Amino acid sequence: MKKIFLTTAETSSAKDGVDVSRRNMIKSVAIAGLAAAVPLTAAAGRAPAQQPDDVQPAGDPRTRFPNNQPAQEQAWSGLQRNMTPRPDCGETSYRGSGRLAGRRALITGGDSGIGRAVAIAYAREGANVAINYLPEEELDAAEVIDLIRREGRKAVAIPGDLRSEEFCRNLVARAERELGGLDILVNNAGYGWFLPDILEHPSEKFDQTIKTNLYAPFWLSKAAIAVMKPGSAIVFTSSVTAFSPADAFLDYSATKAAIVAFTSALAKQVAKRGIRVNGVAPGPIWTPMQIYFEAPANNVENLNASTPLGRMGQPVEMSPLYVTLAEEAGSFVTGSTWSADGGRL
Ligand code: NAD
Ligand code: MG
Repeated sequence: MKKIFLTTAETSSAKDGVDVSRRNMIKSVAIAGLAAAVPLTAAAGRAPAQQPDDVQPAGDPRTRFPNNQPAQEQAWSGLQRNMTPRPDCGETSYRGSGRLAGRRALITGGDSGIGRAVAIAYAREGANVAINYLPEEELDAAEVIDLIRREGRKAVAIPGDLRSEEFCRNLVARAERELGGLDILVNNAGYGWFLPDILEHPSEKFDQTIKTNLYAPFWLSKAAIAVMKPGSAIVFTSSVTAFSPADAFLDYSATKAAIVAFTSALAKQVAKRGIRVNGVAPGPIWTPMQIYFEAPANNVENLNASTPLGRMGQPVEMSPLYVTLAEEAGSFVTGSTWSADGGRL
């Protein structure tokens, strides 16, 4: 508010028969009212802009996370707890604000990597969460269950192999029963193997890739849509390899491209039910998937430098997209696949 200071002369003398001090008091009130009505932008032109005292510089996306993940090996399906350094799934950094309050979500591959980051974000946004994973990943899964419960949310652990249609049906039924309904399905579990020569590409690997990456999401979506109410959302996990296929990931790239088409077609099919279907296409992300598929030792090194941002991504950089695609604020987004790949595409 602008203040007017009256001089002794003004207050003591009278002009035109009007008391000057009284006239200036009226002026002062009028200016104060005007100041309140002037938009901030206009006011900024008259006086130096005041900086809020909580200004923080934005983090540089090139250096926010390391660009030198070291090569290492584990047998499939890998345990995140045995990786060095461990992927950042937002355990200590993700902060929620009630964007999924009261929602009930099933996340496949929720024990590690991107699925774990989504589980943590969803719980911190107020959702109750069921996670699926392979029985041999129990130690990773137990950490996630603990993290969800620490948010005061319900956590349901349902281990099992998604390559069985019967298991997929039971998984959805159990998640729905234990969560008291199902509003969100995140089809995130995935499988791939480094196989650079089709002549040596075993049919068993091809089968495992197609079963895990395509059949399972088909079976899970089918079971979930049957029980979902309007407002529900399905989020798929595609890959940058859908758009820029990798020669050593023949079947994997094909399934990830199929997921983009499946997402779009299913979205059109179930829009009339009020259900939205979208996907995320990550680039190279530091997760157990990077270390189990018996790639040459320099694979991780190459990935470190494979994006314009000059590094691999971390799972915690993926979860905000999964939140947006599942929350009510994203209600006009359906049939889309959003890339998050450090600019690699
Ligand atoms: P991850 O190894 O942490 O997660 C994959 C999960 O899939 C495993 O934890 C496992 O629980 C689950 N899974 C695999 N086969 C299964 C089966 N038969 N039954 C039940 N569960 C099974 O690795 P991630 O990178 O977080 O992978 C998550 C998703 O992200 C996958 O779909 C993957 O294709 C996709 N993706 C990853 C990258 C990357 O660079 N890491 C890039 C693009 C897309
Ligand atoms: Mg895992």
